[in-house]
Amino acid sequence: MNDHIRTVLIVGGGTAGWMAAAAFAKTLGSDCAIRLVESEEIGTVGVGEATVPHLSYFNRFLEIDEAEFVRQTQGTFKLGIQFNDWGKPGDSYIHGFGSIGHDIAMQPFHQLWLRAHKLGLAGDIGDYSINTLAAPRGRFMASPRDAPPSSPLANIAYAYHFDAGRYARHLRGYAESRGVRRTEGKIAQVLLRPDDGFVEAVQLESGERIEAELFIDCSGFRGLLIEQALHTGYEEWTQWLPCDRALAVACEKVGPPTPYTRCTARDAGWQWRIPLQHRTGNGYVYASQHISDDEAAATLLANLDGKALGDPRPLRFVTGRRRQAWNRNVVSLGLASGFMEPLESTSIYMIQSGIMRLLSLMPRRDFSPVLRDRYNAQVAVESERIRDFLILHYKATQRDGSAFWRQCRDMPIPAALQDTIDLFRDTGSFFREGFEEMFGLVSWVQVMIGQGIMPARCHPLAEQMPEADLRQFMQGVRQVLESCVDAMPPHEAFIARHCAAAMAA
Ligand SMILES: Cc1cc2nc3c(=O)[nH]c(=O)nc-3n(C[C@H](O)[C@H](O)[C@H](O)COP(=O)(O)OP(=O)(O)OC[C@H]3O[C@@H](n4cnc5c(N)ncnc54)[C@H](O)[C@@H]3O)c2cc1C
Repeated sequence: MNDHIRTVLIVGGGTAGWMAAAAFAKTLGSDCAIRLVESEEIGTVGVGEATVPHLSYFNRFLEIDEAEFVRQTQGTFKLGIQFNDWGKPGDSYIHGFGSIGHDIAMQPFHQLWLRAHKLGLAGDIGDYSINTLAAPRGRFMASPRDAPPSSPLANIAYAYHFDAGRYARHLRGYAESRGVRRTEGKIAQVLLRPDDGFVEAVQLESGERIEAELFIDCSGFRGLLIEQALHTGYEEWTQWLPCDRALAVACEKVGPPTPYTRCTARDAGWQWRIPLQHRTGNGYVYASQHISDDEAAATLLANLDGKALGDPRPLRFVTGRRRQAWNRNVVSLGLASGFMEPLESTSIYMIQSGIMRLLSLMPRRDFSPVLRDRYNAQVAVESERIRDFLILHYKATQRDGSAFWRQCRDMPIPAALQDTIDLFRDTGSFFREGFEEMFGLVSWVQVMIGQGIMPARCHPLAEQMPEADLRQFMQGVRQVLESCVDAMPPHEAFIARHCAAAMAA
């Protein structure tokens, strides 16, 4: 008999729980019995509607049809995030997915742009990306199959906005049809093995006891297994990411859905706007030290496009991460493993990368600590670099109209982030910290420049191109992109043609 894991229990049926259930059902095969326990009475966090492009890989891995997924979840498409008023009031830039311009030999495009911009030969950096040009014009399409490989239309990078509850239901159907057994009930007790402290079983309020070899803790902020039972510990990042509350409310849809998320800086945090087919999601993420809940609710409600569809729902969180995402025979995913904040839509991505990482470091029944340590080390790098990318948005600001922003502007930041900023400020250089770093050069470049960190000089190699050629090159790139954007249909028309939800309800 082999020593493969034969039983997995997933605790929690939010986005994390059902993503894990679907991926394991597809991968682990019939040798492994997968169960999921969730409690309708406790419910799910009920937010999490904006994503990054990686989710399409996850859906493709599950062989979920994209059009069907968008239809089922009332989804829309996302080319990037528009940040309003972050560097200073009145500023606006888009962090677009995909590439910028056209790299030449050893030179990333932004280096040529830097030189051209200083010479007055180039517009804003956002004028050279298909995503950041198309988004504010409300244009969208997926890459047509017949686009020539050299055309920017061949590589349109996009993510989704969706109704997270509907996504979880969709995945539930997927997982149950592949053998995952769901149990409705509240876990009252977690039972540990006396000899090594591994989790042995959970006991439901009904008295039912469920044993497993591997436990996936997707129980949300409470971290039922990873924290309440195993006392793993939590590393707080509130000194850098000071927002600790959010109010979320949907409003009526007014006008066509924008193909981007909007994040607008407010006096004590920021407000999100996420367009779906049938409604628009909104929320104010704020620091309770700087604003009362009532004031935050008033600000949120005063800044909606349409009529609110209910009262704002409060959420509380502490930014940071679990000290070990994997402890003994428990792997935590989603909010159970930590939460930074929703500014760059990274949480669902981290669920996905956690699932894929676990599958690639799948333990046997002896739970080799080498696998666990590698998993935890990778999670540490991934989360710290995302954390630093998020901190950048707060730190790189000239806003001084409120105590919150003055605190952010003046706060000391992690040394690694300071190094990244210093290097970029010098010659516009950036280096990704290996495979685990989620955001690459294009993301860092857009956010740094968008928030006013302009390199003093460009890379010396970018000065080799004669000025006349550089002018022509910049004009050529811009013209190609403009003609591509002109060829794109309105976002709403694309949805209507390919993936409109059956009922706008
Ligand atoms: C304000 C805010 C905005 C966000 N926006 C985004 C975004 O735009 N994009 C993004 O990627 N992420 C976002 N997130 C994060 C995202 O919401 C979560 O990562 C995602 O929903 C996963 O949540 P979860 O499944 O870990 O937890 P939950 O949804 O909280 O699910 C927990 C599950 O555990 C079950 N459970 C708990 N205790 C018990 C018990 N004792 N017995 C049985 N079952 C139990 C619950 O019933 C539930 O099924 C946001 C988060 C917040 C707070």
